[in-house]
Amino acid sequence: MKIETLAIHAGQHPDPTSGAVMTPIVLSSTFAQDGPGHHKGYDYSRSGNPTRGTLEACAAALEGARHGLAFASGCAATTTILHTLSPGDHVICGDDVYGGTFRIIDKVMKPMGITATFVDMTDLALTEAAFRPETKMVWLETPSNPMLKVFDIERVCAIASRKGVPVVVDNTFATPMIQQPLGLGATAVVHSSTKYLNGHSDVVGGLVMSNDDELVQKVRFLQNAMGAVPSPFDCFLVLRGLKTLPVRMDRHAANAQIIAGWLHRNPDVARVYYPGNEDHPQRELIRRQMKTPGGMISFVIKGASGTVAERSQRFLADLKVFTCAESLGGVESLIELPAVMTHASVPAETRALLGIDDGLIRISVGLESVDDLIGDLDHAFSASR
Ligand SMILES: *Cc1c(COP(=O)(O)O)cnc(C)c1O
Repeated sequence: MKIETLAIHAGQHPDPTSGAVMTPIVLSSTFAQDGPGHHKGYDYSRSGNPTRGTLEACAAALEGARHGLAFASGCAATTTILHTLSPGDHVICGDDVYGGTFRIIDKVMKPMGITATFVDMTDLALTEAAFRPETKMVWLETPSNPMLKVFDIERVCAIASRKGVPVVVDNTFATPMIQQPLGLGATAVVHSSTKYLNGHSDVVGGLVMSNDDELVQKVRFLQNAMGAVPSPFDCFLVLRGLKTLPVRMDRHAANAQIIAGWLHRNPDVARVYYPGNEDHPQRELIRRQMKTPGGMISFVIKGASGTVAERSQRFLADLKVFTCAESLGGVESLIELPAVMTHASVPAETRALLGIDDGLIRISVGLESVDDLIGDLDHAFSASR
């Protein structure tokens, strides 16, 4: 079946007891056993829950995976999968992954004896050179945040596969509607379902999907042992969000493509970062790897760089349809200043190295009328001049 159908039906069927078409929210923490040790598939809701199981099956189907595991947040999913590593193991990680992922590796895993090398994965030779005998995982996130650099999943996986090292791809920004990393050689996919998968900014959640039985067995053990599981209600909401993922992603990308083009032509704008732009340095790879360029755009207003970033601040204050907030992937358009918001914990020197200007603005393009969104931006440009 095609992904649009799977998003609505995978893992789901009318409830056998009531005929309910939508998956029931099973809040029970425990399940009756026919006799000690004889249960109907569920015994305790940390170990497994019917609502969660349905979400896990549906999300797995979208990524082309046999197994899905749901977590209380994207960071919980990341933490759990990183705990499959042992002291002495080494991780190769993209140099501009999600700040929270960097923080887990640097502040949580490092003190536990896991070492890491952060590399610019657009440079494949540099990536290959980072491998050591003790390298046990590669962590890749594409497109990157907030610079929207694109990394070659297939080539990075090919290098890692020659070395026998699993690759985990954080597919939060793209979603399986744009790219399916498992089909390109990735061992596992991680999501913050807080973002596009749920899509309505009312859940914090995470997912791990994989076809690697051995890895899944370890992550499933840790999911239960460490216990960072989502509530049945949150699972229901994400499952409900998934049903419209295909339609939403098309509109996010269509709106973003129009806005990115408009920004590109705008004399007030110095630079636009968007995978759909013809001048994107990785446009060949983008054509090959991504079905659409997605819904995230970053840009710099002319004369609003570095120490004169106040114009960016004024610009944000003048918007009425865009909401100034962190996060992304919801139906509503959000706007933010990475240097003082999402990426404030990244040291200023590192931000400079990654090209994150203090005046850089990031937008998560929502599903509103694109005319209203452009009208809002246009008004703010005039007001901030
Ligand atoms: C938000 C995000 C995460 C972390 O997810 P939470 O649900 O906030 O814990 C991980 N990766 C990416 C790319 C994200 O945007």
